[in-house]
Amino acid sequence: MRPAVFLDRDGTLMEEVNFCRDPADVRAIPGAAGRLAHLRRLGWAIVIITNQSGIGRGLISMDEYEAVHAELLRQLDYEIDGAYFCADVPPNITPRRKPGIGMIEEAVRDLGLDLRHAYFVGDKTIDVACGHAAGIPAILVHTGHGADHLGCGADLEARDIVQALDWIIARETIGSKA
Ligand SMILES: [Mg+2]
Repeated sequence: MRPAVFLDRDGTLMEEVNFCRDPADVRAIPGAAGRLAHLRRLGWAIVIITNQSGIGRGLISMDEYEAVHAELLRQLDYEIDGAYFCADVPPNITPRRKPGIGMIEEAVRDLGLDLRHAYFVGDKTIDVACGHAAGIPAILVHTGHGADHLGCGADLEARDIVQALDWIIARETIGSKA
């Protein structure tokens, strides 16, 4: 079983774009790809967990979602092991939609992940709540909507995903030497 970092997409891995449907609008956070590569070399799985109600609302087609995803993967040097999205539109939601943990459970099953060694990183309270509902530490980043969700109970707040992943790498490297 592999340790894992679960990552929100919009506002966390890439700059926030409201209902992003055009790959030309995709901007990965600078420096993220290098940290993801580092974690994967250490044996960690990297998994995107994203709410995409724009699909359910008919604002984003599946082709557009796939095109945006492909461009993000390209900008991240393909250092991603899996990606899960939920198209549910509130208030008609299932346990897959964050803060529900359905997508995490699917990833654990599909990829053989170990939740005893896992983190969630995101820019909203629902991301922190999702991580905590799964029993794992959660980091709030200040990019995207993060500034509106300060003090939401995250185990750590970080400037951006680079600082969050550096913290995980440092913590886990120290842990492995103990
Ligand atoms: Mg987000």
